[in-house]
Amino acid sequence: MDYKKIIQEIHEEVMPFRGDGNVASYIPELEKIQPDQFGMYLKCLGGADYEIGASQTKFSIQSISKVFSTTMAYELLGEALWEFVGVEPSGDPFNSIMQLEYEDGKPRNPMINAGAFVISDILYSRLDNPKEDLLKFVRIIAGEEDIHPNAAVIASEKSTGYRNASLANFIKSFGRIENDINDLLDFYYFQCSIEMTCRQLAHAFQIFANHGKLPGDNVQFLTSSQIKRMNALMQTCGFYDESGDYTFKVGIPGKSGVGGGIAALFPQEYSVAVWSPRLNTKGNSVMGIKALELLTTKTGLSIF
Ligand code: GLU
Repeated sequence: MDYKKIIQEIHEEVMPFRGDGNVASYIPELEKIQPDQFGMYLKCLGGADYEIGASQTKFSIQSISKVFSTTMAYELLGEALWEFVGVEPSGDPFNSIMQLEYEDGKPRNPMINAGAFVISDILYSRLDNPKEDLLKFVRIIAGEEDIHPNAAVIASEKSTGYRNASLANFIKSFGRIENDINDLLDFYYFQCSIEMTCRQLAHAFQIFANHGKLPGDNVQFLTSSQIKRMNALMQTCGFYDESGDYTFKVGIPGKSGVGGGIAALFPQEYSVAVWSPRLNTKGNSVMGIKALELLTTKTGLSIF
């Protein structure tokens, strides 16, 4: 497979979409990003790497962090995790409150905000140093130490996060959150504010492409069957209420964030991260989705 040529073609073919969409403005700090950037990093499990554009520029991973926190909670609780949070796509926006009322406060899945709060609560209750432990885990799987939260983004989210505070309080009213809401939101915003490059994200997502191991390393994260389930969750729930459309067009598991990043993988073949800050109305990167659609089309590889 000539990935080098494919990545170059993708770069050229996404350029006409450069002005489409808008950066996330509901988090004021994210609005400061120069919007017309694009980066892509593809990591073959066999060892070769291919990159183009701003592939080594750091950006706010936002909801991509939900994959990392869920992996840690799954590691801690095993299958009992699914008593706390479901595995069904919501079909609603990432910050929707509606389903919680008629579903007894149990979030549909861990890839939306409601589910992420329950996951944060589990980690916050069970880890001695939740922030440090999460960061340590991300650094290990990303293979780099230079990964940090962004204090300005945390402050920005806190100052405007009325919807998140309502969601978390609402879930707590059903007895499904143990911790103090301010502590919990502080931890949640910490994880969302972590900044990574496409290279670091592609490195980290290798564990989902490789049955839970980084290539060349014997440390096992989750079991092979649990990795399958994480991939299924990403595929069905990883793109808010655009997950079906994403699956239809792209056909590989992945997770997006409102920072404009998407990390994805083709099992046993590659992991890939793309970043471009302009989002469509569903909150997903316009050029990011286009790039992944071109990748699976040009390679002829998708899980379907
Ligand atoms: N920190 C963001 C929020 O809670 C994450 C949203 C996202 O990337 O989906 O609104």
